[in-house]
Amino acid sequence: MANDQTLTATAEPQPTGLDLLATLWRPGEAVPIWIKQPGGRLLPVEAGQRLDEVLATAVTDHAGRLGVFHGVNPVTSDGRIIRLAALWAALNIRPGALDEPIDAWTVAARLSDMLDATPAFVIDTGDAIYPYWPIHHYPLRTSQERGRASAVLARWGRLVAQAARDHDIDAERLDNVYDLTRALPIPANPAAIQGQGGRSITAIKVFATLNKYGESELPGDRRLTLDPVVSQYGRWHPDPCHCGALQAILANIMRGSPLPGMSRHYWAGRHALRLAVARRVGCISERGLDEAEPVLQARLYELRAHESPLRPDEATELLHWALDTVSRWSNERVAEEHHCITG
Ligand SMILES: [Zn+2]
Repeated sequence: MANDQTLTATAEPQPTGLDLLATLWRPGEAVPIWIKQPGGRLLPVEAGQRLDEVLATAVTDHAGRLGVFHGVNPVTSDGRIIRLAALWAALNIRPGALDEPIDAWTVAARLSDMLDATPAFVIDTGDAIYPYWPIHHYPLRTSQERGRASAVLARWGRLVAQAARDHDIDAERLDNVYDLTRALPIPANPAAIQGQGGRSITAIKVFATLNKYGESELPGDRRLTLDPVVSQYGRWHPDPCHCGALQAILANIMRGSPLPGMSRHYWAGRHALRLAVARRVGCISERGLDEAEPVLQARLYELRAHESPLRPDEATELLHWALDTVSRWSNERVAEEHHCITG
C-alpha cells in the first residue's frame, strides 16, 4: 500500500499542514492550535492569529519536530467541542510496542480494511504515524451527544488495539489517545504529510464498523462532559507569589508514589492538576511549570516498574490535559483546591 501511495503522491501537489487542517474544520469553525514551549508544554495560540504565520515562526525541537499541535475536533470560542471531525490513530514507533515503522503501517492498513476506507492523510513523523479518516457529518450539540462521541472514541481506541492484536502486536503497549480534546502534532517537514486520497466517511459507517468488530460501549466510556473554558491558560497571572507551592508539589512528586490499586497515570494526573491549579492562581510561574515537567517525567520513569513503557511525552500530555481541565473550573472550585500559603 505504501508504495502505491508514494507513486500517487508524486503526481499531485505536496499537501501541507494547512491542507490537513482544512479537512478538519469548516468555515466559521475553529480548530485549537498550540505551540510547544521550551519546557514542553503546549500554549494555546490566540484566536485570529494566522496559522501560516504560526507555522512559519514556530521552532523545531531537538528531534527536528515542529512544536505546533492542533486539536482534531473544532471548538466554540469557549472551548466546547462542536463536531467529531475525524477518526485518527497515533501509532508511536518504539521498542516493546510498535518496534518498526512497518508495524505501524500494518496497523493503519488493517484499520483501513476494517473501515473499508482509505485515510485522507497519513502524517509520518519518523517516530510515529498518524492516519486520519475525516467524518462527513457528526455534529455535537448537547452534552449527551458529546458523551456519546466520547464513547465512540473509546470504542475506536479498542478497535485500534484489536487491529494491532490481529498482527500479533502487544496491544497493551499502544498509546490510548482517543478523546475529544486530543492534540496531535503538525509536522515541520511537508514531506511528512502524505495525501492518501481518502474521502470522508459517514457517522453511520463509524457505528457499523464498531458494531461489526464487536467493540461495544462499556461503562465509563461516556466519561467526558466538557464544561466551557472560564479562564484560558495563556492568560494566567504572569507574576508568581513565591509562596513555595512549587517546592511543596515537587517534593510530593519526588517522594510520593501511587496508593495500592491506583494507576501510575492517575497518580501523576493528580499532581499535574495540582500544578495547573497553582499556576492558575499565580502561585507558580511558567518557569515553575518548565521545572516541574521533567521532574514529573523522571518520577514516572522511576515508577514504571514492569508496567508498559513510558511515552516520551507522558508528563507533557498530562500537564496539557491538566491545564485544559483547570481552565474549565470555576473560581470557587479552584479556590477549594488550592490555598496560597502566603495568601
Ligand atoms: Zn501562593
